Amino acid sequence: MTSSRQPDILISEVGPRDGLQSVKATMATADKCRWIDALVAAGLREIEVASFVPAHLLPQMADAADVVRHALQHRGVTVMALVPNLRGAQAALRAGAQKLTMPVSASAAHSLANVRKTPDAMVEEVRAVLRLRDDIAPGVRVEAGVSTAFGCTLQGHVPEDDVVRLAVQLAEAGADEVGLSDTTGMGNPAQTRRLFSRLFSSIGARTGAAHLHNTRGLGLANALAAYEAGVRTFDSSLGGLGGCPYAPGASGNVVTEDLVFMFEAMGLSTGVDLNRLMAARAPLQAGLPGEPLYGMTPEAGLPKGWRVGAAP
Ligand code: ZN
Repeated sequence: MTSSRQPDILISEVGPRDGLQSVKATMATADKCRWIDALVAAGLREIEVASFVPAHLLPQMADAADVVRHALQHRGVTVMALVPNLRGAQAALRAGAQKLTMPVSASAAHSLANVRKTPDAMVEEVRAVLRLRDDIAPGVRVEAGVSTAFGCTLQGHVPEDDVVRLAVQLAEAGADEVGLSDTTGMGNPAQTRRLFSRLFSSIGARTGAAHLHNTRGLGLANALAAYEAGVRTFDSSLGGLGGCPYAPGASGNVVTEDLVFMFEAMGLSTGVDLNRLMAARAPLQAGLPGEPLYGMTPEAGLPKGWRVGAAP
């Protein structure tokens, strides 16, 4: 996409990582690559393409290095990878990932179940990854995503003070960006606005992305609340890929198509072409036959006279 100005909103597509690791089937590497090509063609400029975790834990991500190397052929796109620890970061940097994201859970129960480490131990892991980055890949940005920031299925309520304290620790450790993730889709708009406002007043420009799930149908409402609090980077996944197996009919991540529609309809530019974005569902479906996709905009189509970036 060539544009005379920077888009107002950065959409960070997480489908190839968050979406694919939540579905049972494993997408073939060639299909993943075709899908990523279509996402790039739609104008997405940041794509989380893989997760560097042991293949026996997540066979869907066994080809992470190959997928990163393929995505790197596209210029103007930030190729992002999730890494849970130093070992994952070593592999991701070796493959050439341009930005890393590390999940750090605000819920001790979730953190222990997920990575068998306390939140404090995870802050140390982030520090270790930052040192590695400084040594071998100083141009790579490292984001820490505070997961279960809005509630946890194991712990239940997650105190906002715990979330903010952890975010400050991560910023002080040197993370370039600290985002908040509604891992379990428990957040609401008032909470989202309050938490991100507190984040901006605590860590300022290091405030990172809003990673929201649509589990209870509040994904877009929460995204708007985050926008109003000052957030300009949003994670989402094409077709809302990654529906929760325990909540039939509930989609996983916020649907990229609907999120782009909302912002563009509000007169905010995303740099994404909605028609091409919806066309990117075809390679996704070809690679994962039978997997349900979500989203209202693809079903309804674009309104008559739709013009991308139409100012109000
Ligand atoms: Zn997620």
